[in-house]
Amino acid sequence: MVKHLYAGLFVLLLSLAGCQTPDQDTTATEQTIASETTAEARPTRPKPEFFFIPPDLEKKRVYICIDDSDDTFHQQHDCPVLVACKGTFRNLTLPRAIEGFDRYNCETCSADLAYIFDENAVRMETGFGEKR
Ligand SMILES: [Zn+2]
Repeated sequence: MVKHLYAGLFVLLLSLAGCQTPDQDTTATEQTIASETTAEARPTRPKPEFFFIPPDLEKKRVYICIDDSDDTFHQQHDCPVLVACKGTFRNLTLPRAIEGFDRYNCETCSADLAYIFDENAVRMETGFGEKR
C-alpha cells in the first residue's frame, strides 16, 4: 500500500518534470520501482533535469544496459559501449529509457540526440514546446 503510494508519487514527479503524460500504468509503475532501488547505488549522473522528446521520437526504440555504472541509451544494438555491457540488455522506447531509467544519450552512437537534453536547443526548434 505504502509502496504503491510512493510509486504513484514518483510517477507524478516524473510526469511533471518531463511535461509528459504517461499512461502505461502497470508497466511504468514496475519499472519506476526498479529504477528507485538501483538509484541509491548508481555512481552515475543524476536523472536528467530537462528533456524533451519530439513527437517523431516517442515511438523510437533504443537499447539500454541494466548496469549500475551505465546511464545511457543506445540507438545501435552493436554500439561498442553497449556491447561492453556486463548486465542485461533491454529494448524499450526512448521516452521510457529517459523517464523510467534516467538515461542520457550515448556519446558514441547517439550524439545526434544530445539536443533532447538541451533546453536552449529545443527552444530554437519551432513547435517543440507546443505539444498537446
Ligand atoms: Zn551507444
